Amino acid sequence: MTDPTWWTSVGALVPEAVSLTEVAMPLVTPFVTARGVEAERRFWLVGVHAGGITGWAESVAQGEPLYSEETHQTVHLVVVEHLLPRLFQAPLDGPEAVAARFRPIRHHEMAKAALEMAVFDWYARAAGVSLHTVWGGTRAEVAAGVALGLTPTVEELLAAADPFVAAGYRRLKVKIQRGWDFEPLAALRRAYPGMAIMADGNSAYTLLDQKALMRLDDLDLLMLEQPLGPDDLVDHAVLQRALKTPICLDESLRSVQDAQHALSLASGRVFNIKPGRVGGFRSAVAIHDVARAAGVDVWCGGMLESGIGRAANLQLASLPGFTLPSDLSASSRYFVEDLIDPPFVLTERGTLAVPRGPGIGVTPDAARVRRFATQGTEWHRPG
Ligand code: MG
Repeated sequence: MTDPTWWTSVGALVPEAVSLTEVAMPLVTPFVTARGVEAERRFWLVGVHAGGITGWAESVAQGEPLYSEETHQTVHLVVVEHLLPRLFQAPLDGPEAVAARFRPIRHHEMAKAALEMAVFDWYARAAGVSLHTVWGGTRAEVAAGVALGLTPTVEELLAAADPFVAAGYRRLKVKIQRGWDFEPLAALRRAYPGMAIMADGNSAYTLLDQKALMRLDDLDLLMLEQPLGPDDLVDHAVLQRALKTPICLDESLRSVQDAQHALSLASGRVFNIKPGRVGGFRSAVAIHDVARAAGVDVWCGGMLESGIGRAANLQLASLPGFTLPSDLSASSRYFVEDLIDPPFVLTERGTLAVPRGPGIGVTPDAARVRRFATQGTEWHRPG
């Protein structure tokens, strides 16, 4: 449980400046999903500056609106034009107040999250505590899963999976789409009989594909993630009634209200929580809490984050309801060089350690930020 008074010793936050640095980091291998190919990770590194302390966060929106309607560019627009004026307008009474301040702006969860998470980090650094401590996190390390993109052949999928299984990752997740589902998953199941394997449809299917999806019931999958529409809860409930395999919701959950509706409708038995998708930490913790109360397992998804976003996700995934392996891999899974030093490494137990320092527990390496930065601006509090 979150101690609601943890930040009171810090008092009100009067942000002096907010910096947005665009960072472009090449990926080790291009990541292919039903939504397209990503060859680099481009994001805004957000810094909230006050009292000699900087709170850090990174944005998760991609170049094109293929995951949600937000993009790298809309995040910048909404932050600069609509959120920063509200952040600067009056002192902020605690990190939980950010969401209320931003509530008049409809959706744009990723833009809101980028600022809200930096404010949380600022508060926790100012208070000298780590976020997992503040939230009552119960684990020092988080079981790591790996996500595999689409490959041209089954052989290439097996070849891609092998090194991660050998390295000790605790769960394989495979991107699927129409016509690329049963066969690759069955091959993986044959190759790794005892492994936790799951599939992510990224909304590539409709209820008309029910028969094809029901074939996956024979493969003992840990779960089937977001097979149907990105805003849908109703069709997922219909499909879940027909499937033995638990459905996990990702794109469809953007708020605690969505999570409550999903519980009412029984749209799935597992939730993937990404703070960037749901407007930030406050909303992510709230979704964790309602899911846990309802006995629904959760895990933390990834958006190809650098070490900054990865550290934020690890703080969250230390909470007791995160009972399943998360999409939290070592830095080397995605990047030759991370934005943080040292990078995240996989332990021999197939886990990542939750950083123990104040806030998210890591800080961007200034030289690396300079190396990967493509542009940057700092906005100062008016007056
Ligand atoms: Mg997903």
